[in-house]
Amino acid sequence: MKRLSSVRIIKLGTVCFTPSEVASTFTLKIKSDLGIGGGSTATLIDGERKILIDTSFDCEWLDDPGKNERNASNLVRSLGDLGIVPGDVDAVFITHWHRDHFGNLGVFHKAARLASKGLVERFGLEDFVGVDDQEEIGDGVKVMLTPGHTIDHASVMVDSILGGMKARVVIAGDAIISDAYFQSGRIWQYNADFYGLEAARESILRLINASDLVIPGHGVPFMSYRPEWVKSCSIRRSG
Ligand SMILES: [Zn+2]
Repeated sequence: MKRLSSVRIIKLGTVCFTPSEVASTFTLKIKSDLGIGGGSTATLIDGERKILIDTSFDCEWLDDPGKNERNASNLVRSLGDLGIVPGDVDAVFITHWHRDHFGNLGVFHKAARLASKGLVERFGLEDFVGVDDQEEIGDGVKVMLTPGHTIDHASVMVDSILGGMKARVVIAGDAIISDAYFQSGRIWQYNADFYGLEAARESILRLINASDLVIPGHGVPFMSYRPEWVKSCSIRRSG
C-alpha cells in the first residue's frame, strides 16, 4: 500500500481584518505596524512528490523594494526548519492569482507550476500546467474547483494521517479565508475580483463536506467535524 502524504504548515498566514473589524486603510496600517503581513498560509504536502500549496507573501501593499527578498528568505528559512530546500519541492500549486498567495513563486526554479485551468488561461501563464476539477496531482492529492473568492479559485484535498488517524484535509486557499470568517458566516468580499456570494457559499459547503480538517487561506487550521470522522475519533478514544 502506498504511504499517505503528510501535511505540514510551512508558514501560517495572517489575516489583517477579522470579521468584526472595519476593513479600512487605518486598520491595515495598525496591523502592519504590529508586523502582521497578511500573507497566505503555505502548506507542504509530503508524499511521493513534495507539493507546496501557495507560497505566502507578506505586506504586498508596502512600497518597499526589500520586501521580495525578505519574503523569500523567510519562506526558505521556514522550509529549512524541516530540512527542505526549495530544490526539493517538485511542484507548487497556486490556489488563486493574488500576490499574498503566489508572491514567492520565484524561489522555486525547478518545481512544476500548477493552478486551475481557468486561472492559467485567464492570465496566459505559459509556464504553468492547468489542472481540472477532481484531477489528481499526487497520490491521494486531488484538486477541487472552488469559485467564489475569484472566478477560477481552486483548493486541494489530501488523504493524510493526523493524530495517528486517516484524515481528509482540505487546503482551502481563500475559499475559506479563516476560521473566524467561517464561524461567523461572513464572506470576505474586499478583493476587486471577487466572483460571487452564491458560488462562494457553495464552495465552502463542498469543502466542509469533503473534509475532516480545513487549512484556510489565512490563520489556524480547524476541524470541520465530518460526522464519520467524529464517530471514528470517539471509537478510538473509548477503545
Ligand atoms: Zn489570501
